[in-house]
Amino acid sequence: MSVLIVGSTALDSIKTPQAENPRLLGGSASHAAIAASFFSPVKLVGVVGEDFPKPYIKLYQKHRIDLSGLQIQQGKTFHWSGEYEVNMNNRRTLATELGVIEHFSPTLPDAHKSTPYVLLANIAPALQHHVLDQMWKPKFVIVDTMDLWLNIALDDLLRLLKRVDALVLNDSEAHQLTKSDNTLEAARLIHKMGPRHVIIKKGEHGSILSNKDGLFVCPAYPLKKVVDPTGAGDSFVGALMGYLASTRGNPEKNLRRAMVHGSVVASFCCEGFGVKRTTRVVKRDIQKRVRELEALARF
Ligand code: AMP
Repeated sequence: MSVLIVGSTALDSIKTPQAENPRLLGGSASHAAIAASFFSPVKLVGVVGEDFPKPYIKLYQKHRIDLSGLQIQQGKTFHWSGEYEVNMNNRRTLATELGVIEHFSPTLPDAHKSTPYVLLANIAPALQHHVLDQMWKPKFVIVDTMDLWLNIALDDLLRLLKRVDALVLNDSEAHQLTKSDNTLEAARLIHKMGPRHVIIKKGEHGSILSNKDGLFVCPAYPLKKVVDPTGAGDSFVGALMGYLASTRGNPEKNLRRAMVHGSVVASFCCEGFGVKRTTRVVKRDIQKRVRELEALARF
């Protein structure tokens, strides 16, 4: 089955203590779509400007991503730039230039409206609502967000949480949303807001799933060297949804394995700038790391 992914499609300029890379292919939807494409057909919904480099379109096409929902508008592509400290858990946004995303209205082609799996990747919650409004009874909807929307669009986000199956967010965002410093208490409070499944990401320490079956602790794949963690969270949730869409039966039963696949694809993302490493991965590489993670976590 296929996955519909809406989110930002961006040019990212990224600075780490080791290197600086301008105008890379980035955006929550780009990372998520490439990650999901290893498992299932993907339909990307987003907007870019006329300055969007042709080789980036080719890169999407290499991953067989359906681009009929990608609008190309007059103006500039959304541009984000960020800088990492030596401790790569600390990142500073240097600039955000909205460009064509400022007036973006995600109108779905008819063929997209019955897609069973929907990933509302990080973008303004009003746009995530707009996509859901156009869908015909999706089977599983997951939403990702960021601190910016907790600060400036909380009401929209809270309304959205009543419409989705799952929320994925990182631990600092969970604490900001619930005012609780305890991850388990934060998950309990988020369930009350709507989602049956709450996934809290903890960077290099993995992620936690909370649902009616209890808790699942998913390890991160340990890396000796992180080059650029930008998009790791988007790759995690993209691969998770791609994997879910490739399985049979009740998606809830496959969530744990889906998270493990998310962890593995996110690890590849961290090993190169932008999507450079992820786009060189083949399925065999993913399966090998999944087996390694299984061995690491078994006791
Ligand atoms: P992550 O590292 O998982 O937090 O995701 C980084 C990606 O988020 C980058 O590729 C950015 O282009 C994208 N991004 C940054 N700010 C925003 C924003 N305000 N809305 C949507 N996407 C954003």
